[in-house]
Amino acid sequence: MAKCPELIVVGGGLAGLLLAAHAGERFGDLLNITVIERALPKAPEASLDTRATALSRGSKELLESWGFWAEVSTSAKAIENIHVSRKSRFGSALLQDDAAQNEPMGWVVENALLQAALLARCEAVAVDVIEGHEVVKFTTTSERPVLTLDDERQLVADLVIISDGAESSLRNQLGIGAKRHAPSQFAIAFNCETDGADTGIAYERFTNEGPLAFLPLPGSGDNKLRYNVIWCAHQATQSRLLALDDQDFIDELQSMVGWRAGRVTKIGRRAGWPLSVVVSRELVRSRCLLLGNSAHTVHPVAGQGFNLSVRDVGRLIALLEAELQTESPFDSVARLSDFERASLSDHEQTIAATTLLSGLFDMPQPLIDSMSSMALSAIDVLAPLRRGVADFGMGRR
Ligand SMILES: Cc1cc2nc3c(=O)[nH]c(=O)nc-3n(C[C@H](O)[C@H](O)[C@H](O)COP(=O)(O)OP(=O)(O)OC[C@H]3O[C@@H](n4cnc5c(N)ncnc54)[C@H](O)[C@@H]3O)c2cc1C
Repeated sequence: MAKCPELIVVGGGLAGLLLAAHAGERFGDLLNITVIERALPKAPEASLDTRATALSRGSKELLESWGFWAEVSTSAKAIENIHVSRKSRFGSALLQDDAAQNEPMGWVVENALLQAALLARCEAVAVDVIEGHEVVKFTTTSERPVLTLDDERQLVADLVIISDGAESSLRNQLGIGAKRHAPSQFAIAFNCETDGADTGIAYERFTNEGPLAFLPLPGSGDNKLRYNVIWCAHQATQSRLLALDDQDFIDELQSMVGWRAGRVTKIGRRAGWPLSVVVSRELVRSRCLLLGNSAHTVHPVAGQGFNLSVRDVGRLIALLEAELQTESPFDSVARLSDFERASLSDHEQTIAATTLLSGLFDMPQPLIDSMSSMALSAIDVLAPLRRGVADFGMGRR
């Protein structure tokens, strides 16, 4: 019997694990699948120190059609509406989907829970997960890529999916360049508890230096509403805020966000980093494809990074299906490039939309004031525009 082709996924973040789990489910009999992950996070306990991802309605539809949604939804919090406002201005808008009132606008899941669910799925479909080791060297023989691990093991692949994150070392080793936009904003991400009512509303507040987003987290209740918060600001402000003690930080946060989400009673660990946009110049090389943050790292303002990867996973699965019907799968760069052609316009549109939104804050102050106030009142008044913003947020473009 002919040997099954070897699919190796480098990087077991959300993007790599989703691809491996879905490929294992669909083509487990036709492919040997291995994931190599340097370090998986520990499952979160009831802590405020977690990271979370907003899933769009488009992602939910895909995950549902792939049979993953039942597990994901058990640890997801529905976003019923998104409240958009501008600090110190009157304009505000409640974004909701008029066409499907019973369906939430999105869902928030904690990354570690999503990752644990995907890992369990990988194990159930016999994906081999090599954890605690990293790929240190990537070479190609005349025919196949060879991956050398930090314990000197060598693995030969028929196809490598490179999903090793924004600073992808494999992308660099392959000599694939990336376009980098230096950050003009810096983010602080953390979770907080408030004493507000559990309404399922997410809050997006436009401040003078960038957006401040409050996403409701699962497990809220008993007057302990939990939110995942991303606060974007200039570098000096970020450094100052990170150095404050918890109570002073809470005071500044409260004055920035107002009281709609309630009184902030507690915050978890704060993490800060620059919000650079990194876009790979190529997605395909001989027997290699880029996926997730190694292909595109976007501003988190509209929560689009992983949602974009979910759509890429859909396109990759279609490519794998077509390749497995050929006589020698994965041997033609021209055929693999169908993935690049299908994905690039989606990447460009998503990056352009999120860059436009975050770029509003780098304009001269009077201009941004009038534009964002106009935008907010327009969103309130003009149903088609409101619909467009809501559709973008729900991943339905
Ligand atoms: C603050 C913030 C908020 C966000 N919010 C949202 C949101 O609400 N919605 C949304 O859709 N997206 C969001 N995103 C984007 C989202 O987090 C990412 O797109 C998503 O996590 C996918 O990442 P990834 O798997 O591609 O990369 P990563 O999460 O970076 O995973 C890469 C993995 O590869 C491993 N690795 C690296 N090098 C090697 C090696 N040589 N060998 C083996 N393993 C290796 C790493 O250990 C890591 O686990 C947000 C991002 C940020 C920064």
